[in-house]
This record gives sequence, C-alpha cells and structure tokens, in this order.
Amino acid sequence: MELDSLLSEEERLVRGAVRQFVDDKVKPIIEECHREGRTPLELVPEMGQLNLFGATLHEYGLPGLNNVAYGLIMQELERGDSGLRSFVSVQSSLVMYPIHAFGSAAQRDRWLPALASGQAIGCFGLTEPDFGSNPGGMRTTARKAGGDWVLNGAKQWITNGTLAEVAVVWARTEDGIRGFLVEKGTPGFTAADQHGKFSLRASTTSELGFHDCRVPADAILPKTDGLRSALMCLNQARYGIAWGGLGAAMECYYTALEYSKQRVQFGGQPIACHQLVQEKLAWMITEITKGQLLALQMGRLKDQDRLKHFHVSMGKRNNVWVARESARLAREILGANGIVDDYPVIRHMLNIESVYTYEGTHDIHGLIIGEAVTGIPAYNPPERSEKPMPAGAR
Ligand SMILES: Cc1cc2nc3c(=O)[nH]c(=O)nc-3n(C[C@H](O)[C@H](O)[C@H](O)COP(=O)(O)OP(=O)(O)OC[C@H]3O[C@@H](n4cnc5c(N)ncnc54)[C@H](O)[C@@H]3O)c2cc1C
Repeated sequence: MELDSLLSEEERLVRGAVRQFVDDKVKPIIEECHREGRTPLELVPEMGQLNLFGATLHEYGLPGLNNVAYGLIMQELERGDSGLRSFVSVQSSLVMYPIHAFGSAAQRDRWLPALASGQAIGCFGLTEPDFGSNPGGMRTTARKAGGDWVLNGAKQWITNGTLAEVAVVWARTEDGIRGFLVEKGTPGFTAADQHGKFSLRASTTSELGFHDCRVPADAILPKTDGLRSALMCLNQARYGIAWGGLGAAMECYYTALEYSKQRVQFGGQPIACHQLVQEKLAWMITEITKGQLLALQMGRLKDQDRLKHFHVSMGKRNNVWVARESARLAREILGANGIVDDYPVIRHMLNIESVYTYEGTHDIHGLIIGEAVTGIPAYNPPERSEKPMPAGAR
C-alpha cells in the first residue's frame, strides 16, 4: 500500500537503523537467549548509543523523535523479539516517561541520563498478585513516618525487576495512589525472578517485596496524582505495543512466505502454489497492512496531542490480535518446522501470549472501547442477589 510514501525521510532512516541493529546483533543470539531464559544484557549499551531509550525526549542529548519514529523503533525491535521490545518499552515509557512527566528536577537529572545510556535499568511496579486488570484495588501502601515514607506490599510480573537499579512503584497513600522511586539495595526491598515461563523467555520477570521499606521524602514522584498518573504511563507503553505487535506479525509473515516458496510437497510444487496456503498469506499481509495504517494514524494523532486512550486500546487490541493470529498461521505453514526454534515463529507465537495479556488484556481493551462508544462502563459485574434460588428453580 506504499506505506513508505506516508513516512518522512527521518522516520525511514530510524526504521532502517533499528532493522540493521536487529538483523546484525539481535537475530544471531536471540534463540539462544530464549532457550536459556536470559535477557540479552550485552545489547543494552548499544541500544543506549542508538538512542533507543527515551527516544521521544529532547533533553539530556536525546533525539526528540516524533511518535511515528518511536513506533517504528518498537516495530523493528519486536521483529527481533517481544522481550527485547518489552525491555525498551519499560525503560522508555514506564520509567523515563514518569520520571520526566511527574519527577522533580533532581530526580530527572539523576536518572534520565543514566537510563538513556543504559547504565541504569528501570522497572515499573503496578501489578500485584491479587490485582492485575484492576490495579485500582492495589494493597501496597506508603505511609509517612517522620520525614520518610515506609512502603509495605508486593508486586508481581514486573519486567526487569531484579535487573533494575530503580523501580517506579505505585502505592496507596492517605492522599490516594502515588508513584515512588525505590532504589535497588534499599533495606526492606526485595526482588526475585519468576521461573517456569514459556513466553517472553528472553525477558526477566520478577516479584518485588516491600517490608517496612523506608525511602526518603524525596523518593515520591511529586506530580503523580492518583491511578490516572499510572494509566498515563500505560498509555505510552500501549501505543508502542500497537506498533510492536506488528513487528512480530511481519517476522512471522515473511518467514512463512519464504518457507512456502521453498518447501516442496505434492507434484514437485512448492506449497505456496496451494490456494489454502495463499489464503493464509493473504490474510496476514492484509491484516498487517491495516494494522500499520491504524498505528500510523495513531502516531500522527499522538504528535498532535489528539490521541485518546480508547484509540490506544483499539490499536493495542487489534494489532496484538493480528500478531497472535499471524503467528499461528505461520506456524501452520511451517508444518513440523513450525515448532522448532530453527525458525523464529514458535518463539513469537509463545511471546505474543504475554503481549496479548499485559498492558491491559485483549478483553479489557474491548471494554474500554465499549465504554467509549456506549458511555456505559462494564468492568464490574452486575450486583448479585444473595437470596437462595427458589426451590425447584434451575
Ligand atoms: C511477561 C509479563 C510481563 C509483565 N510486566 C509487567 C510490568 O513490568 N509491570 C506491571 O505492573 N505489570 C506487568 N505485567 C502484568 C500484566 O499487566 C497483567 O498480567 C495484566 O494486567 C493482567 O492481569 P492478570 O494477569 O492479573 O489477569 P486478571 O486481571 O486476573 O485477568 C484474568 C482474565 O480475566 C479477564 N477479566 C478480568 N477482569 C475482567 C472484566 N471486568 N471483564 C471481562 N474479563 C475480565 C481478563 O481479560 C483475563 O482474561 C506483566 C505480565 C506478564 C505476563
């Protein structure tokens, strides 16, 4: 659809540079990282040099790219691996963004240059063991004690939790939910990795614990103002995921396309000559193209400050669904080769299950769109009568 004609030269250059980085540095090691279940930390300094962390910020020598260029970075990174894109999403949208938007000048000066270069890694602690889709129910508390704050509670499913020098932690205070910066090594702050993941294995996922964890008065992000501040961070990350999902879909599509042209079965013909195979490829390329046009319009609206949260829900929901379906179709086309990591498809297929769930599940985004079009929020179940059912009623 000549999508490139809708991109500026700078946007195409940024995409090309990240694609090169992914081809040269990520693809050669990513299957091994996935097998070993490790984050490719050796790539972090180069990602810092390429300005992939906080790319939309202008200060501290950062390039101040527009949101379409930022989206294209996410797309290209996720062609490599959803875990790598998650690393950059968390660092940029969930750690640098809140420090930039809600932090003091001292917090910005201390953390943003270190996070931009990759010398420091950050994490974002919102989800708790009992509160995922409904983070507003969180139990983690922060109470004032003398001049300090004391945190108690637990966070779960936290990307980069054990790797992070600084955690952005959301906790309930007397004045509502606020964000705090908690540094690694603070007494009472623990982090431990979660094991047994079959998805996003090249990414670290952790539990955080706060046991009378005392942080100084200036650890609070002063401009945070309730859950809406946390949701503003999620909106940034979800926007990037709408592009990123397409990257995973594109990688699966191209792998399946090439495979179908090489693999010969009946009558000495490549499987690409069968109508059933072509229909799968046609579905993928059509949905990926529609998703790209959606993501691009989201980016243009975001650059004009006109992107609403329900637009972001539409993009995240649709494009990650496209990625999930594309990964399955590609895996089918690869036959038995679709289940081994000689090809990237099974890894993307497993990864996308996390992406489908985190940053608001597919269904929660459906409810956000539903609320936007009907005006009726449908998150809470209807009240249930405690009365026993009448005798004989089934
Ligand atoms: C690999 C990975 C990394 C993550 N990284 C982070 C991170 O860095 N920081 C962080 O804070 N969190 C992180 N998360 C957590 C993630 O955001 C949550 O898993 C997500 O919000 C869903 O919460 P849950 O898993 O508790 O599912 P639940 O909220 O328990 O939902 C379970 C199911 O119920 C459905 N459901 C729930 N409520 C409703 C409703 N009202 N109507 C209809 N259906 C409903 C959901 O759609 C889902 O299908 C990560 C998760 C994963 C898997």
